[in-house]
Amino acid sequence: MPLNLTHPDNIPRLIRAAPLGICITDAEGLFEMVNPAYCDFYGYREEELIGRHFTMLVPEADRARLGELHERFIRGQADQEIRQEWEVVRKDGERRSIIAEAARIVDERGEVKQATFVTDITERKRLERRLEFLARHDELTGLLNRRAGLARLDEEIARTHRHDIPLCVAICDLDHFKQINDRHGHGVGDEALAAVAEVMQSELRRYDVLARLGGEEFLVILPGATLSEAERSIERLRRRLVETRLASPGLSLTLSAGLAALKEGDAGDALLERADRALYRAKREGRNRVTPA
Ligand code: GH3
Ligand code: MG
Ligand code: MG
Repeated sequence: MPLNLTHPDNIPRLIRAAPLGICITDAEGLFEMVNPAYCDFYGYREEELIGRHFTMLVPEADRARLGELHERFIRGQADQEIRQEWEVVRKDGERRSIIAEAARIVDERGEVKQATFVTDITERKRLERRLEFLARHDELTGLLNRRAGLARLDEEIARTHRHDIPLCVAICDLDHFKQINDRHGHGVGDEALAAVAEVMQSELRRYDVLARLGGEEFLVILPGATLSEAERSIERLRRRLVETRLASPGLSLTLSAGLAALKEGDAGDALLERADRALYRAKREGRNRVTPA
C-alpha cells in the first residue's frame, strides 16, 4: 500500500527526511529530538546532542542571553514564534551564521516545548559583509574609496571646526605612472599601486586617513597637523617611496603632492581645490616633490 504522507503517524518520517535542520527542546532547553539535517549541519551525532542543553551550540558569551530568551519563550512571555539570527559553532569549531525560527508547541501531556528550524545563512552573511566592504573600499588597495574618503573628509572637517584644531590634506599623484603600464603591463601596474598604498599607509600616523581618489591619485587627511607638520609628514612619505623597490621587477616610483590647510569656514571642496592646484604646481616644477598651497 502506498504511504500516506499526510497521515499524522508519518510526520516524524517527514521531519527526518527534511533538508532543513529541525530540533525540539524541552522546557529546560534540553534536546529531545534532532533530525539528521540538524546533526549534519552541526557535525554532531544524534546521541551527542539528546539530553544536552541547546545553548552548547552557540559561543560561550551568548549562552546566558540565549538561555534567558528560551525561558521567556517557554513561559509564553515572548511571541508564539520568533525568528532570529545567531552565530553558532559546529563540533569542529567552525563558526556559522543561522536564522533560527522557533515555534512554541504544547504536547499531549500539556508540556511546553520549543521546535526550532535552522537555516544556514553563512554564505549570505559573508557576501553581505563583502559588499559592505566594497561599498566603502577600493578592491585593489583595500584603502577607502573616493566616496568614503570624501565623506570622511567632511566628518574630519566638522570635528576640526568643533575642537578648533588644525587640519591639512594632501593630494598625492604618482609620477609618469602611465609608463609603468606601458613598459611592464597593467598587472605590474596594479601590483605597484597596491604596494604604494601599503608604503603610504605604513608611513602615516594612526589617525591620518588615506583614501584612493581614483587611478594613481591618493588623498591624505592629516587631522591636527599644521601646514608645516603636514609638509614634513608627506615629505617623509615621498622620500620613503623613492627608496622602496616596488612590485616584482623592483620598480622605483615617485610621487608629487599638493598640500592645503583648512581655513575658517572652509568646506571640503575649497580645501581640495587648493591642494589640487598645489599638486599641479608640483608637477609643473619637475615632479617628485611636495608643494604647499
Ligand atoms: P603624471 O606624472 O603627469 O601624473 O603622469 P601619469 O602618467 O602618472 O599621469 P596620467 O594621468 O597621464 O596617467 C595615469 C595612468 O595611471 C593612466 C592609467 O594607465 C594608470 N592607471 C590608473 N588607474 C590604474 C589602475 O587601477 N591600474 C593600473 N595598472 N593603472 C592605472
Ligand atoms: Mg600621475
Ligand atoms: Mg593622475
